[in-house]
Amino acid sequence: MDDLRNTINGCQVDPINGRWLDNIEPATGELLGRLPDSDGDDVQLAFEAASAAFEGWSSSDGTVRSGYLHRLADAVEAHLEELARLESIDNGKPIALARSVDIPRAVANLRFFAEAALADRTEEFITGERARNLVHRDPVGVVGLISPWNLPLYLLTWKIGPALAAGNTAVAKPSELTPATAARLGELSVEAGLPPGVLNIVHGHGAGAGEAIVGHPGIPAISFTGGTVTGSRIAAQAGPCFKKLSLELGGKNPNIIFDDADLEAALVTSLRSSFANQGQICLCGSRILVHTSIQERVVDAIVEGARGLRVGDPLEDKTQQGALVSSDHRDKVHACVQRAKDEGGHVQCGGQPPAALPDRCAGGFFYEPTVITGLSMETKTNQEEIFGPVVTITPFDTEEEAIAMANATDYGLSATVWTTSEDRARRMSSAIDAGTVWVNCWLLRDLRVPFGGVKHSGVGREGGEEAMHFFTEAKTVCTAKGTTT
Ligand code: NDP
Repeated sequence: MDDLRNTINGCQVDPINGRWLDNIEPATGELLGRLPDSDGDDVQLAFEAASAAFEGWSSSDGTVRSGYLHRLADAVEAHLEELARLESIDNGKPIALARSVDIPRAVANLRFFAEAALADRTEEFITGERARNLVHRDPVGVVGLISPWNLPLYLLTWKIGPALAAGNTAVAKPSELTPATAARLGELSVEAGLPPGVLNIVHGHGAGAGEAIVGHPGIPAISFTGGTVTGSRIAAQAGPCFKKLSLELGGKNPNIIFDDADLEAALVTSLRSSFANQGQICLCGSRILVHTSIQERVVDAIVEGARGLRVGDPLEDKTQQGALVSSDHRDKVHACVQRAKDEGGHVQCGGQPPAALPDRCAGGFFYEPTVITGLSMETKTNQEEIFGPVVTITPFDTEEEAIAMANATDYGLSATVWTTSEDRARRMSSAIDAGTVWVNCWLLRDLRVPFGGVKHSGVGREGGEEAMHFFTEAKTVCTAKGTTT
């Protein structure tokens, strides 16, 4: 992989300060190349480009913006295999996952919001005989988009799509750990003819480029996806400047299996919701809560399933578990498992790096899928997001107990409920504190529905019209009736 560059004003540029960061391949621990260690000067340059492009872009017809977004989607689709390979190398995820989920979803995001750009969102309210109110939705301006490493292109395009569709121009910062597909998207956006300055991509650390975006006085809205601690820092920095903020943060999601569930379906999906992307999805069901009467069957099946997952070279088509994103993250996950043992947990499987790996991957950051039992909800293991291939299984006796356990963390992103009873499904979904409750499914996403968390899992919603609302400001024009012709 060559050195990556920032995309600013339609050009590939080096960081102004001449500083670079190493980009390490998670599956090997080897150096892949370098990326810009950008700072406030690069962000300023990107802001100036975005600012200059704003007037033309925001006043263009929705059909024009829609056309550009479709062309960008076409370009991503045409390079699907290349981008899937890049994502797999850069992140450590199995190429089969990048090929079937990450890159197709990036295409879908861009296409979905290309269509959303076509809608006229002006609303009319007539106040009796007195007035006519027109509520217009204007773009916010130059917006800041900050995304994490777990679903790099998927989550970046989830922000770029609505931001650009609504008529904003953008300064985006991908995670410094996984910059490759964002850098390629920058190049593809130029090839797709996107006007210079509409989409600027600035690489670097959160503490450098990220904070410079959040603190920039000319950027009135920040859309952030990442960890809860980072979200809190961003809120503290942006709050006093009265910026619009969308915060999509961490999760510690319950996956609740009742004794009346279709157990076969529950087990197949629970294995996926525990370990997909090495458990590095904010929506993973990292706490399995199971009715006492079926506890043993569930533990046995999840442990057997976890042991059967093929951990290996992410570039192999058959690999089911790739590498964790960095050595630091692998060490953090391992420390969490050690802590679980100290808390009295029983590690039923995993709990260490795999013994045998292909030679190419000997220095990679792999970890075995890990199942832990015997811990109460009060333990740190069941309270804090681990964000790795680690799941706990805890029994409950009654529905009330399941609800209390589900809600017993500071997080509230999503939950899954397995039951064949419609009444129980209704009661549970109403009682669980979460932005999304899946009943007898997981990760089934309709891009039109609101997506986000409650409590420490976030503020605001993305998806569909919610995203279009975030990236626009409502302006009401109230005209007294009969006063204009
Ligand atoms: P981080 O919060 O560490 O980083 C997210 C992004 O923010 C990165 O680009 C990071 O840069 C940047 N950043 C860090 N500090 C600052 C700062 N002070 N100002 C501005 N930007 C900053 O998250 P991770 O990348 O580790 O991603 C994992 C987390 O994301 C998990 O907690 C997961 O649950 C959450 N997540 C939430 C989702 C949701 O939709 N709710 C979806 C996916 C993930 P840098 O490159 O330096 O780290």
